[in-house]
Amino acid sequence: MLRLADVDPDIAKALRDEAVRQHRNLELIASENFVSEAVLEAMGSVLTNKYAEGYPGRRYYGGCEVVDVAENLAIARAKELFGAEHVNVQPHSGAQANMAVYFTLLKPGDVVLGPNLSHGGHLTAGSPVNYSGRLYSIVAYGVRKDTELIDLDQVRDLARAHRPKLIIAGGSAFPRAIDFGPFGEIAREVGAALMADIAHPAGLVAAGLHPSPVGLADFVTTTTHKTLRGPRGGMVMCRASHAQALDKTVMPGVQGGPLMHIIAAKAVAFREALTPEWRAYQAQIVRNAKALAEALLARGYRLVTGGTDTHLILVDLSDRGITGKEAQEALDRAWITVNKNTVPFETKSPMVTSGIRLGTPAVTTRGMREREMVEIASLIDRVLTGLGSAAVAAAARNDVQALTSGFQLYPDRVQ
Ligand SMILES: *Cc1c(COP(=O)(O)O)cnc(C)c1O
Repeated sequence: MLRLADVDPDIAKALRDEAVRQHRNLELIASENFVSEAVLEAMGSVLTNKYAEGYPGRRYYGGCEVVDVAENLAIARAKELFGAEHVNVQPHSGAQANMAVYFTLLKPGDVVLGPNLSHGGHLTAGSPVNYSGRLYSIVAYGVRKDTELIDLDQVRDLARAHRPKLIIAGGSAFPRAIDFGPFGEIAREVGAALMADIAHPAGLVAAGLHPSPVGLADFVTTTTHKTLRGPRGGMVMCRASHAQALDKTVMPGVQGGPLMHIIAAKAVAFREALTPEWRAYQAQIVRNAKALAEALLARGYRLVTGGTDTHLILVDLSDRGITGKEAQEALDRAWITVNKNTVPFETKSPMVTSGIRLGTPAVTTRGMREREMVEIASLIDRVLTGLGSAAVAAAARNDVQALTSGFQLYPDRVQ
């Protein structure tokens, strides 16, 4: 059989160039990570060929006995990892995991109480440009102006006033741990279901470093590719009593055939996650985020909530006269990869923003520790202080490359 380089040299080159970029750059996007070679191998496997609509033991197609093994392992390991009664590992993404919960519980027009996108929520928690905002009547809660922590009084008041059918806890840019207990109490008081979306901190939750909503929320959704360090994909956990309704919603409700190669890769990632080394890795992610936060604070940067409990830091640049967009572009030129991000009570558009979001999962996977975080803070500061200077960018690129070259990543793919 012909290999990729013979069949499609253009894409083969793009794959190699991307491996080089990933190795060379400092990856600080909080939602990204580097999967293991074992996870990559499962993803690029013959399992992609198999149609397996349905669930293990009850498929609509023949020949599913082998892929059933993979899906059963993924389910069993996910249950063990999170202590969940029921798990559906088929959602293709986090957005589809959330869609499965919406479609299980709600009718179009029903009221949903979710976190405001510009206060750290995700698109799928009711943004008007997303299916969630188009199909449901969304009420949004935010953070308090003084603490920048979730305003639980506001959540309670809005829940009492609007009687939502569903309350959502969890987002994409909350640097602090979320206490799911009060959300559960408010949901019970108003007769709403609670969905905890742990797409970001799932790895920390599994390692016992962040409060777990499992057993407390009616549904827990996650991605599998962020802190969890598995293949790109989604997953839903729930109590046994919701299992049948959820499974029917995922397939045939919102999806057709599951991605069996991705489900196998999820199983591999969950196996890795059940080891003591992986728990130590998650603890290092948090220590690295704290070290990076402290080093930025020491250089006078303002961090939303003043710091972090998680893998994620939100830097508010508005007092420096730089936009998030300018910062992202300047850092890109220095081979430091971040994303611009709105900050609470944002005054600029989502394409410009006042902040940048930083995360430590990917650099921690490479083996970097507190010492390197101090170096990264200094590099970021040099680039942002020297904004617009080509010489500063060039010098920073050199130092970034010197730093990253000491931490191997996919050695066979960058030749
Ligand atoms: C990343 C994320 C999602 C969506 O995941 P995709 O796989 O990109 O669809 C959903 N919810 C939250 C809170 C997220 O951070």
